[in-house]
Amino acid sequence: FYNESLSNQDVKQLDRKGVFHSWSAQGSLDPLVIKSGSGCRLWDYEGREYLDFSSQLVNTNIGHQHPKVLAGIKAQLDELATVAPSHANYARGLAAEKILARVPAGFDKVFFTNGGADANENAIRMARAITGREKVLSAYRSYHGGTGSAIVATGDFRRVPNEYARGHVHFFNPYLYRSDFWAQNEEEEGARALQHLRRIIESEGAESIAAILLETVPGTAGILVPPKGYLDGVRALADEFGIVLIFDEVMAGFGRTGKWLAMDHFGVTPDLITFAKGINSGYVPAGGVIVSERISRHFDENMFFGGLTYSGHPLAMAAICATLDAMEEEDIVGNAERIGANVLAPGLKQIAERYDIVGEVRGLGVFQAIELVEDRESRQPLNAKAMGQLKASMVECGLLPFVVANRIHVVPPCMVTAQEAEQGLSIISDALGSLKR
Ligand code: PLP
Repeated sequence: FYNESLSNQDVKQLDRKGVFHSWSAQGSLDPLVIKSGSGCRLWDYEGREYLDFSSQLVNTNIGHQHPKVLAGIKAQLDELATVAPSHANYARGLAAEKILARVPAGFDKVFFTNGGADANENAIRMARAITGREKVLSAYRSYHGGTGSAIVATGDFRRVPNEYARGHVHFFNPYLYRSDFWAQNEEEEGARALQHLRRIIESEGAESIAAILLETVPGTAGILVPPKGYLDGVRALADEFGIVLIFDEVMAGFGRTGKWLAMDHFGVTPDLITFAKGINSGYVPAGGVIVSERISRHFDENMFFGGLTYSGHPLAMAAICATLDAMEEEDIVGNAERIGANVLAPGLKQIAERYDIVGEVRGLGVFQAIELVEDRESRQPLNAKAMGQLKASMVECGLLPFVVANRIHVVPPCMVTAQEAEQGLSIISDALGSLKR
């Protein structure tokens, strides 16, 4: 395991021999080898250092190898490494208590899962059970996970080859830069997106719709901060038609936007909140559904037909407790807010002023995106070859970026320092400057 003589090549060969990778044709993969990490830094087997501006899959909000989280997991490991979900376990109860303390009033239970997809599966299941209805409305610009209903609720291209679950309907969510509603400003975009959603509800038949599932701030789809009033409008539609509102906070939640939950920016409360990723930075896989009192009361009397062997796994729970405590003690959420407002947003604005291929920069906290275009007039997305070149040159300069389609998502850990944030921005800027077209 800890063989000091291993090289990058050894590890890559072993990977290519036996590991089947996610979302890929397996034949031509060339995975970057990573051995170890600390904070925002990662190293390979040959001592090459990377600044992690991806937070892996936007999940290591607390950074790599945080000592308090490691200590929490180790303490739990010494006491009990695993236990069935039917038992009462202190770490699990404490994790639920700490999560509920960070959400608005009106939520009183947490159902734990192994990650974000199964959090959404179970939120959908609860919504269907409580309404007796089947359909789930979700946005085209979204990602909700790779499993049965979650991947069909997803709007992006990954849904299409996986459309086996039934009862899913999609709608267009607001995205002013590429408005589907011919909108000229935020207000028009929000209002017209709401009118479109109303028409979808009416056309599908409100009495058939169990849930509206929405990423509070769509992440993989491009970090699309919703216009003022949009989420209030969705809440009002859900109330008008008796639909359960689910906010997917898997990527945006637990510090990423500079608040505990992304929904805290908008003052809108859903009926169910799903989470994963930043809840414990993925040190041990975990996710879950935060259940409102109303839905919770339904399941006081009615059986919940769902469960997982590892629901509330004690190591994951210990990681949650230690992560939330450390984030609080070290004001990591405040740091995400300050770095976003004082370093990333102004730095990205400068980058946008410097390079014509930047169409738009946007985001909240350490959840920002640079959208690249062929030219500002047509807004045509920058081609895949150029995006590949950009990615390679950032990696070459020691930055691990999160590149999606024609965008660079600027998503370092929430504990990133101002100096690290500036270093990352400067590598991004140099890569844009050296792009040959
Ligand atoms: N929901 C959102 C918003 C996500 O970004 C993701 C993963 O990227 C998921 C759900 C799925 O989470 P997981 O990969 O842990 O199943």
